[in-house]
Formats: sequence, structure tokens, C-alpha cells
Amino acid sequence: MENEIVSRNFIEQIIEEDLKEGHCKTVRTRFPPEPNGYLHIGHAKSILLNYGLAKKYHGKFHMRFDDTNPTKEKTEFVDSIKEDIEWLGADWEDRLFFASDYFQQMYEAAVKLIKKGKAYVSELNAEQIREYRGTLTEPGKEDPAAGRSVEENLRLFEEMKEGKYEDGAMVLRARIDMSSPNINMRDPILYRVAHMTHHNTKDQWCIYPMYDFAHPIEDAIEGISHSICTLEFEDHRPLYDWVVRELEYENPPKQIEFAKLYLTNVVTGKRYIKKLVEDGIVDGWDDPRLVSIAALRRRGFTPESIQKFVELCGVSKANSSVDYAMLEYCIREDLKLSRSRMMAVLNPIKLIIDNYPEGQVEYLDAANNLENEELGSRKIPFCRELYIEREDFMEEPPRKYFRLFPGNEVRLMHAYFVKCESFVKDEDGNVIEVHCTYDPETKAGSGFTGRKVKGTIHWVPAPYAQKCEVRLYENLVDEEKGVYNKEDGSLNLNPNSLTVLKNCYIEPALAEAKPYDSYQFVRQGFFCTDAKDSKPDALVFNRIVSLKSSYKLPTQNK
Ligand code: ATP
Ligand code: MG
Repeated sequence: MENEIVSRNFIEQIIEEDLKEGHCKTVRTRFPPEPNGYLHIGHAKSILLNYGLAKKYHGKFHMRFDDTNPTKEKTEFVDSIKEDIEWLGADWEDRLFFASDYFQQMYEAAVKLIKKGKAYVSELNAEQIREYRGTLTEPGKEDPAAGRSVEENLRLFEEMKEGKYEDGAMVLRARIDMSSPNINMRDPILYRVAHMTHHNTKDQWCIYPMYDFAHPIEDAIEGISHSICTLEFEDHRPLYDWVVRELEYENPPKQIEFAKLYLTNVVTGKRYIKKLVEDGIVDGWDDPRLVSIAALRRRGFTPESIQKFVELCGVSKANSSVDYAMLEYCIREDLKLSRSRMMAVLNPIKLIIDNYPEGQVEYLDAANNLENEELGSRKIPFCRELYIEREDFMEEPPRKYFRLFPGNEVRLMHAYFVKCESFVKDEDGNVIEVHCTYDPETKAGSGFTGRKVKGTIHWVPAPYAQKCEVRLYENLVDEEKGVYNKEDGSLNLNPNSLTVLKNCYIEPALAEAKPYDSYQFVRQGFFCTDAKDSKPDALVFNRIVSLKSSYKLPTQNK
């Protein structure tokens, strides 16, 4: 290719340097979620980044559950996480790992450190450890146990393992430097006593490793070359390096940090999503208003749209927040040409064509997507009674209203011109019927050029249309007020985040819609069959996104 500018993100630059210098032979990356909740769009970034790097450099991608903490983990989350990652398209092949499978090796690693004089058992309780640790401006104090002999440490650690001590009675600490300017290096805890049942190892262990000790070991055991994590671990990197160095791993993994993905005015934190679920404010972890991966899938986002989004976000060292409109842009782009454009009436009013013979029906040809012939075409029955959108008729139109009003003529999409002759109101003054006449000369596709009309509206044939439910979504939080309440940190919820329309009609071809099938409903947006609540005879559609937006791609990403 001529003059192609290849720009690499900073992680790619590091990897290429490492490959060139021979620091690593094979690129191995991993995604290490803690199975304590569902994955969200931020995790998708990490997954696709790690998977993408392994693929780009012909390396391997590992899926690893970081399940070293027995309190919060649940099998439900393990299953959902696997499903989400598969759906996103990150293939770990046969490399599915559980950190808890390495408990024995971690224990041996701790023993090795004790033998090297690099770890000791301490009786200080949590509060004392905090006191001894010092502050950002003051160095810490030596632990009275720091001088213990190797033999005594080995014996005590063994006793911790055998269950001789209560939770919190003893910990194993690394012996590094109580006066280090980096607090993480002030003799961090490596192991704690916790008499808890683990979802994988059950009651085999009553001592559990701390994250900062376990994680580098997991990486080293699996031969991970680049351990990519988010920025908050930057200050932990010296400890990560200390662990792999002291344990003398041959090809030590390298930790690289990047900035988390944040979406403006969107709830991403696992903690907040969990609360919304537990408080019953949303319909589970996959409520289409959330940005968990399960929710995005249910809403109708595609893996391709999320891949595109993550690509546009880029990888950086600086925290920033991305507009939700960019995610919407990505799904619109993905669906625009790939989905059929169908007719659905969300807020119906009856239109009667007085000069169309009663009982007559004709089947009109409709291209499924004028911009993509491959999607083929369908037949739509046309007859005397139709439904149109209530907002497509006005008794007294404002200026520039080109849809139906008494005396005005519009085009019925894929069909004929109709002219509004009259309308009928109920006793409360609501319009219930619009009466029109049609002009048989004006049939779509007939080449009619006699006159033009300014408005085109969509419709469904009343006797053939199927009733369905449509759900429209807005931001879950109130953007005007900001996501979090300044006083108590709670969420400022938008009371209109969900609108349920139960009286919608779809054209017959849509009656076949299966869970996760998505379509454009002309003039309304993109919609997806709800996978949880939709039934063949009672279809439910979620609006994924409306058709238009004022959003423009940032120019540097074009
Ligand atoms: P949360 O902050 O939502 O609770 P977490 O960081 O606790 O998420 P983990 O299961 O520990 O969730 O994360 C697994 C991986 O996903 C980690 O490597 C973490 O750095 C990464 N990750 C989590 N949130 C984001 C985000 N917003 N953007 C990019 N990567 C993320
Ligand atoms: Mg975490």
C-alpha cells in the first residue's frame, strides 16, 4: 500500500521494542476479571485490547479468572463473563485459567521468600499495620516481628496454613522497606488467614494470597509477556516487579498501565450497577439501559459496533471520558447497511382509503434496504385500512408540516399517494380515523411523474399488522443534574429512562423476528427483538438507537 501511515499506540510500541530486543519471544496477554459481577463496556476495552495485541503479534490470549478472593465470587458471574467474552469475539481457545488453581504454587512462592529472608509472619492486626505504615510524608515503622528467624517464620506460616490461627491473627508480610516513598513497598501483606470456603478449592485453604502478590505469580506461571492493567495499578508496579524478581522467574512479565474507559453521564462502575440491580431499579444486569455487555447485547448492539467503538477510543495514559453518542454512532454505522428497513407504527391511528375497494388486497414490492441490494425485497399487503403514526396527521398543521392534514397529499412509502379528505373524532375530541383517497396512477415503481408531494409517511396494513410492544430508552441518569448526587453520592436517576409502548403495529414480515434480530424501523430508529421478554405471539422490541444524531466523529480519528 502506498504511503500508508501506520500509527501505533504506546503499548504496541513497547511490545515491538521488546520483541526486537529479544525481551520476549512470544506475546502473551491475558484478561483477568474477578468473578464478582458482570462485565461492562470498560472491560470490553480491556478484553479487545489484550486479545487484539495477542492476535496482532501472533501471540496467545489467555482468559483467567482472578478468583483469589473467596468472599465475593460466584459461579453465576463466571458463566456470564465467559459468555460475554465469547460474544465479543475474543477467543481464548484452550487457554482458560483460574488463579485459584495456582494456590499451591503461590504458597510455595511464599515459602521461597521466607527462606530468602524476604518475608515474615507478623501478629500486628489490621489497625496496627495501618499505624505502622506511616503516611505519604512520614516513613513507616519497623514491624516488631521483622527480625524473626527464617525457621520461626516457616513454622508460623505452616501453622497459619494448618488453621491454628483465627482470621486476622497473623499475616505474612514481604520484607522490603518501611521507609520507601511508595507506601505499597512498606512491607505489604502477602498472605492472610481467612477461614472461608472458596468456590473452586472449597475448604482446602484457610490462607489466601493478596492481589499484589498473587497477580504477578499468575502472570509468571502462564508465561504472560505483557500484563496490561489500568492506571490505578501504576504505584503497584514496583511491588509487581519485586515479586517476579525475588521469585526469580525466567521470563518475567512486564506490567503496562493504560487509562480506564469512562463514558460521560453513564454508570459504568460495577459497584453502582450492582446497586441498581439489587434495588430493583433496573431489570437485572442485562437491563438494556445499562452498559454491561449483557445489557448492550440485549439492547441490540453488535460485537462489531463495540469493537469499532473501542478502536475509536484508542489507548492512552490519560484518563478521559468518551461521549455515549460515539457508541451510538458505531452501532448506527454497523446497522445502516446491514439491516432491513421495515415499517412499524409505534403510536397508531387508523387511516381509511375511502376509494379503495373493500376486501381488496394487493401485494406491493418493497426493497429491504435501498442502499444494499443484497438484502433483497419483500411483499407488503396493501388494503383499505391502514395504521399510520398519530403524529403524521394534524388537524391544524404548523408551517412546514408536510405530512397529512385536511386537503394535503402525501406518499405512503412503497405504495400510493393519498390525500386527506376528512377525519373522525371520538367524544373526547381525539382524532380516531383519518380518511383519504388514493390515486391509482401514483403507485410506487410505476414511474409516475405527474406531480410531486413533499411528505412520505410509513404505514402498516391494519388487518395484517401484528400488535407488539416497543420499549424506548433514554439515559438512566439525569444528565442535567450529573450522574452522582453531590450530597450523598447516590445516582440522579432520570424518571423517563424507559417508555413502554404496548399498542404498536408491525408489518407482517416482521412477525418472524427472533431474539436478537435487529431491524431499522423506518423513520424511528434501529430496533432489536428483546431476548428476555419477546414471545412469538407477543413480540417485544428494544430501540437500540434513533436514526439521527448531531454527533460528529472527532476529526483525528477519521
Ligand atoms: P470496576 O471498576 O467496574 O469494579 P474492576 O476493575 O473491579 O471493575 P476487574 O474484574 O478487576 O473489574 O477487571 C478486570 C480487568 O478489566 C482489569 O484488568 C481492569 O483493569 C479492566 N478494567 C476494569 N474497568 C475498566 C475500564 N473502565 N476500562 C478499561 N479496563 C477496565
Ligand atoms: Mg477489581
